[in-house]
Amino acid sequence: MKYDAKCSACGHHSSDLLDFKCPSCRMPLDIQLHFDFEAKKIARKDFSVWRYRRFFPYVREAELVRLGEGWTPLVRFSKDVNFKLESLNPTGSFKDRGSASLVSAVHKLIKKMRGYISEDSSGNAGASIAAYAARAGLRAKIYVPESVAGPKFNQIQFYGADVVRVHGSRSKVAEEAQKSEPGKFYVGHILHPLFRDGIRSLAYEMAEQFGWKSPDLVYLPVSAGTLLLGVISGFKHLVDSNVIGSMPRIVACQTRQVSPLYHRFKNLSYTPPEPITSVADALVSVDPPLLGLMVKNLKKVDGDAVMVDEEEIVEAFRELAAKGFYVEPSSSVAYAGYKKQVEKREVPLKSNAAIVLTGAGLKTATIRP
Ligand SMILES: [Zn+2]
Repeated sequence: MKYDAKCSACGHHSSDLLDFKCPSCRMPLDIQLHFDFEAKKIARKDFSVWRYRRFFPYVREAELVRLGEGWTPLVRFSKDVNFKLESLNPTGSFKDRGSASLVSAVHKLIKKMRGYISEDSSGNAGASIAAYAARAGLRAKIYVPESVAGPKFNQIQFYGADVVRVHGSRSKVAEEAQKSEPGKFYVGHILHPLFRDGIRSLAYEMAEQFGWKSPDLVYLPVSAGTLLLGVISGFKHLVDSNVIGSMPRIVACQTRQVSPLYHRFKNLSYTPPEPITSVADALVSVDPPLLGLMVKNLKKVDGDAVMVDEEEIVEAFRELAAKGFYVEPSSSVAYAGYKKQVEKREVPLKSNAAIVLTGAGLKTATIRP
């Protein structure tokens, strides 16, 4: 067995690619890898996430669903700062890594059963899953909050997904999407382990683009935790395989309004404001189901967390745009987190930082010039 989907709580093993939770205790499943990363096994002529296809054993070569995901540029911004431009993925965000691995793994199986996929999201993940379903010729139903609007919602509709508007809280939307119906297979990006696992490719790419070295620091915006957990898992795989010498310091960046991980990580109590009004409108998970796993894994790799205020997010957004990097405000949270740590002298001198710019500015609907 090259990999294993194992329950993060009770240790139960799942052998069904379509399980999105532990069949025994309903807690999150986690993909565990039982092979080494070997640079010689990279498909060097493939400039997409699939140059690493040998390291995603649940995906078959003939069943890959491709839209040109991954191998995004790593751009040097200053002496110490590099930007990883995930905003340049096919649907405009890093989520395409997860959608590509998940949809590639399950589309044949679901089509064979004449089924369709369901997902809950109001934004980037909904658009991404809708696009990959469209490419695979698979029907998709995307459950969205009633308030959804703007460029991301247009994207979901143009990709041809069925949209179901749900009245109530964000967790109510998830509940509806998971509700069992004939032919429906829930592939929600937050819970499904194959989505999260697809994000591993981001760590492989950064290490390769840095010349098989790890940057000293990696800054990520964090909400539901798929980016954080995927990147940790990728770097850890490289360290365990002796491809890089050590883990970078992974820094989870959150907004003051939506900061459950920051607070739990620092042993502080957290009560979210009601309603959430942050300009970083992709970061909305006030009570993420993966919180326990995030805290555990971030501690295990000796990572850190930082929280930024609205003014700092807007300032970082404007600064990035003024230098030619037009990303969504939620992405500028990572740059704001870096700036804050530099200001507080929490970044060692001469350290090399990679900041992941997760989503395209053209999706922005919360800040006006
Ligand atoms: Zn379990």
